[in-house]
Amino acid sequence: MFLESGCLKVRGDRVALERLIEIVQACRRCATMEGRRRVLSHANGQPGARVLFVAEAPGRFGGERTGIPLSADQTGRNFRRLLDAAGLDGDEVFITNAVLCNPRRDGKNRAPAAWEVANCREHLVRTIDAVDPPLVAALGVVALRSLAAIAPHEATLRTVGKPVAWYGRSLVPLYHPGPRAQIHRSFAQQQEDFRLLGALVRELTHRRPRSLQPAECAPC
Ligand code: SF4
Repeated sequence: MFLESGCLKVRGDRVALERLIEIVQACRRCATMEGRRRVLSHANGQPGARVLFVAEAPGRFGGERTGIPLSADQTGRNFRRLLDAAGLDGDEVFITNAVLCNPRRDGKNRAPAAWEVANCREHLVRTIDAVDPPLVAALGVVALRSLAAIAPHEATLRTVGKPVAWYGRSLVPLYHPGPRAQIHRSFAQQQEDFRLLGALVRELTHRRPRSLQPAECAPC
């Protein structure tokens, strides 16, 4: 098991993230995404987050409507309950998608095409570099595949919750929080997966109560 000890030093690159947000807002790589919202902004989280979640794509009633990934629709409500199970606050996480725009067919959500995922991969790499989290959590197979194209890994949903070394940090495979994934993994099992994820995040980042962190943080 790969456990890279974390550190309370400042991580992440705020300037790089600002620049990336500008680039993404102007992105026109996918003709299929004309008129869609580019769901990357400060609402996704802050540089230096303890864990970066990568899901599949914004939903039409979720990120497309609110500009906040994994919010407002049933998938978003499930995810917020899973974060509660992990004991993670919203400001400790950064949330993004393998594809930053909402893929649609006949007005309904559809799975992103492989070429759309490939088009958006550079944005994903730059997001990970700018946020620089000690841990990345992949929510489902689309995220796992896109991350494998950035750097090879052996994480699969058969080893759900088990961290592997990846791209200078840890990668944890988890199920997507959407209702369909519950056919394969019940919500109760997913809550347990997230509870273990929260424990891992605390182990990697030496998380302590916020009031103690500045005094406890040794120079590194
Ligand atoms: S999905 Fe990604 S690559 Fe395609 S237009 Fe949207 S931001 Fe650009």
